[in-house]
Amino acid sequence: MSRKDQKIYCNCCGKMICLLSEKDRTSFLTVEKEWGYFSDKKDGRIHRMDICESCYEKMVEKFVIPPEEKQVTEFV
Ligand SMILES: [Zn+2]
Repeated sequence: MSRKDQKIYCNCCGKMICLLSEKDRTSFLTVEKEWGYFSDKKDGRIHRMDICESCYEKMVEKFVIPPEEKQVTEFV
């Protein structure tokens, strides 16, 4: 559980990312995955994790294929 005391913690490095109330103004990755019928072992479970931006950068560096990147056009 990476959220407690109204704070969000990075699942990867354990550092506090931000207060829960600041989450819309903070850059971090939240992954929520419902493992369904086609999963081998996690059938019917939901996993959620919060990853801070620096851990995200480190994680992506290890990818063989980098994430697809697009420019957000609404802000241009
Ligand atoms: Zn982290």
